[in-house]
Amino acid sequence: MTTAAAPSPIVASAEGSAALVCRDVRVAFGNTEALRGVDLQLAPGEWLGLIGPNGAGKSTLLRAIAGLVDHHGTISLSCGRRPGGTDVALVPQNPILPEGMTVAEYALLGRSPHLGWLATESRRDRRIVASVLERLDLQRFAGRPLTQLSGGETQRAVLARALAQQAPILLLDEPTSALDLGHRDTVLELIDGLRRSDGISVIAAMHDLGTAARFADRLALIDEGRIVADGAPRSVLAPGRLSTVYATPLSVHTIDGEIVVLPAPRARQEPRP
Ligand code: ADP
Repeated sequence: MTTAAAPSPIVASAEGSAALVCRDVRVAFGNTEALRGVDLQLAPGEWLGLIGPNGAGKSTLLRAIAGLVDHHGTISLSCGRRPGGTDVALVPQNPILPEGMTVAEYALLGRSPHLGWLATESRRDRRIVASVLERLDLQRFAGRPLTQLSGGETQRAVLARALAQQAPILLLDEPTSALDLGHRDTVLELIDGLRRSDGISVIAAMHDLGTAARFADRLALIDEGRIVADGAPRSVLAPGRLSTVYATPLSVHTIDGEIVVLPAPRARQEPRP
């Protein structure tokens, strides 16, 4: 994942343009109110962790920000404009991986928002993709079909497509759910590195609360379509609040300086005589 020379920034002018504001965002699917008035702010260069139980509305919020679902309320950049394909890039939870497409071809799809009507990718677009593949240590897989990659390589290819978009805001929907611990940390460290070097802002929906706390500057806890807590990880991850929202007893510990959330111990069953 490391390169010898200092890599060129993936996003050249992210600084100052990444802030995002959500005001009273509401999304309904028929009778299901997936988001019931979400207020949220993202500062430039910030990593915001979205946490909450299944069905809370995390994916819907990311999809609304990416413009993939209709919403009421306001989602805008700091300049007041609604974000478009060159502003936000989404790494979806279950991406569609086109049959027969190579890693480089798939990553090149990330350039689509930059292309004019009926335009084809230029040499510059291919150079950007090559640079992203290099940053993700994927050059040797460039010509390989997506279907012939391991889980970790696939995850990186999906990230490559999003990074090729060169958007200053990266939206990650459970980006490491299919990865083992080693691959999980490698991918998250890589994103964190890009954030620090290129000023990308990140909103990441994450299942594992300890991992979310480790990488995020701030956590937003969603429950039933509403943000019920928003702040520093240590303040949001209060055991009483988590136990209520996740509807199961949870305890919060600090091990080697890191926050760890655990289920409360089960009552011990005495062995039968
Ligand atoms: P999370 O990501 O927190 O698990 P989601 O945003 O996926 O939650 O879902 C929020 C709610 O919206 C759930 O009740 C889910 O069933 C519903 N929902 C999400 N997408 C759709 C859809 N396309 N059609 C109907 N209901 C949906």
